[in-house]
Amino acid sequence: MCIFCQIIEGKIPNKTVLEDENFLAFEDINPQAQKHILIIPKDHIVSFDVMPPKVMANMTTFIQKVASKLDVSKEGYRLITNIGDNGGQEVHHLHFHLLAGEKLGTLV
Ligand code: 5GP
Ligand code: ZN
Repeated sequence: MCIFCQIIEGKIPNKTVLEDENFLAFEDINPQAQKHILIIPKDHIVSFDVMPPKVMANMTTFIQKVASKLDVSKEGYRLITNIGDNGGQEVHHLHFHLLAGEKLGTLV
């Protein structure tokens, strides 16, 4: 079972920010910004590349709720999803990184 599926099942502890029946948001163990949250579907979907559009639609709403709960909607935040080897994906369970809490450097 992948590490994020183990987190979903409670086998590995996490600092939960928000959870519903389909998604979980929790603090990244190695934060790259003042606020660094991982947002995952509870279904094991390998990456964005194979993500059903319906999941994306529901995940969009969930991510917006996470941003609202963190109170970063106004000041702004960054969403990143790494895909595959060239994208730098280390955990092969779809996740969005939400980075916030400070002015982030320009990437692209
Ligand atoms: P990726 O490189 O796959 O896009 O990102 C994986 C992320 O998962 C990394 O930012 C890493 O710090 C985080 N991570 C890996 N293992 C754990 C863990 O056991 N708990 C938490 N909270 N984050 C993890
Ligand atoms: Zn998984």
